[in-house]
Amino acid sequence: MERKQSPETICIQGGWQPKNGEPRILPIYQSTTFKYETSEQMGRLFDLEENGYFYTRLANPTNDAVADKICKLEGGVAAMLTSSGQAANMYAILNICSAGDHVVSAATIYGGTSNLFTVTLKRFGIQCTLVDPDAPEEELEKAFKPNTKAVFGETIANPALVVLDIEKFARLAHSHQVPLIIDNTFATPINCRPFAWGADIVTHSTTKYMDGHAMTVGGCIVDSGSFDWESCPDKFPGLTTPDDSYHGITYTKKFGKAAYITKATAQLMRDMGSIQAPQNAFLLNIGLETLHLRVPRHCENALAVARYLKSRDDVAWVNYPGLEGDKYYELAQKYMPKGTCGVISFGLKGGRAAAAVFMDKLKLAAIVTHVADARTCVLHPASHTHRQLSDEQLVEAGVDPSLIRLSVGIENVDDIIADLDQALA
Ligand SMILES: *Cc1c(COP(=O)(O)O)cnc(C)c1O
Repeated sequence: MERKQSPETICIQGGWQPKNGEPRILPIYQSTTFKYETSEQMGRLFDLEENGYFYTRLANPTNDAVADKICKLEGGVAAMLTSSGQAANMYAILNICSAGDHVVSAATIYGGTSNLFTVTLKRFGIQCTLVDPDAPEEELEKAFKPNTKAVFGETIANPALVVLDIEKFARLAHSHQVPLIIDNTFATPINCRPFAWGADIVTHSTTKYMDGHAMTVGGCIVDSGSFDWESCPDKFPGLTTPDDSYHGITYTKKFGKAAYITKATAQLMRDMGSIQAPQNAFLLNIGLETLHLRVPRHCENALAVARYLKSRDDVAWVNYPGLEGDKYYELAQKYMPKGTCGVISFGLKGGRAAAAVFMDKLKLAAIVTHVADARTCVLHPASHTHRQLSDEQLVEAGVDPSLIRLSVGIENVDDIIADLDQALA
């Protein structure tokens, strides 16, 4: 049996496997299309009778190599890249939900995802119930309906930094015969592999730590292959009954464990687009090569910064799940013993107004709408990313109006702390 590679090795060696005489480095297949000798061969590809490339909207070798690397890092069976994290979460839901269906989601999710679920998908006829992720199971049970098709949460919520009790959510989802979808953007597979705790589908905004250098917007969906869609065929007819737009193929019958990703590619990507550009996939791959080096450094620096902030009198509160005494410290120790992420949230005693003054005084940390970059950056969600949400919705999403989101980079930590120090002074 082939030896299972460690995440560090997969970061470097996973994905692109050149054959004899092929380029050592993953090539950018900068081509919309692919050439065939006979019309018959091309036809078989369109019928999904044969594996192969014909149009980059459906599949591209550069993208597939990078998706394969992420798939191996998560320990899944199949994966696809998308043009953004938003597209990944949208497809993850639309692949198994249509008008009349319902989703249960942790309320403490990323603002963009919250908008997608409660505003845009609602217009598609898909309802979403937001739940308090810390509520006991009996309470969470009440959110389920006969038409519930999926449960959704983030390993570490952006920016609330709530650590999800993945096993609890997996139990709930599975007792209702629906899959658990986990957005693992902040933890990354270096710190947490949700499939090991019962999640069925993992999504990523690769824009964050995976890229790591604020170069490309991208997303990924990975399937564990462990959810048995046929155990409740009436629930997931899109996977378990013939697809008329593919000559009556039934995805679960024809593709087995790859059914979910094959449907997302062959049907959703075909009809809706939002493929990742091969050029971006190439850049993402370079980021992935150092993910296992950067993530521990982000965590180490963030822990030191969190301890520094906690020690200051002018800081009202600090949330960092890696910090001893944090509300989510125990859950973080269970699911992410090696570290959580580089993002800290905190509030100043001066509240909302003091946050703006403090941020303007920072020199090294830049005000940008981004997190999980090698460079330290800072954001005030109430006036930036989450400004569509009312104060009430902000609190529901776990975002205090005074909350400053600090994404600690991989610079020298003394320099980061010195910058915070002068700005607070
Ligand atoms: C940023 C982010 C998204 C959205 O990803 P984009 O790549 O910006 O579309 C989704 N989920 C989480 C947890 C994020 O941090």
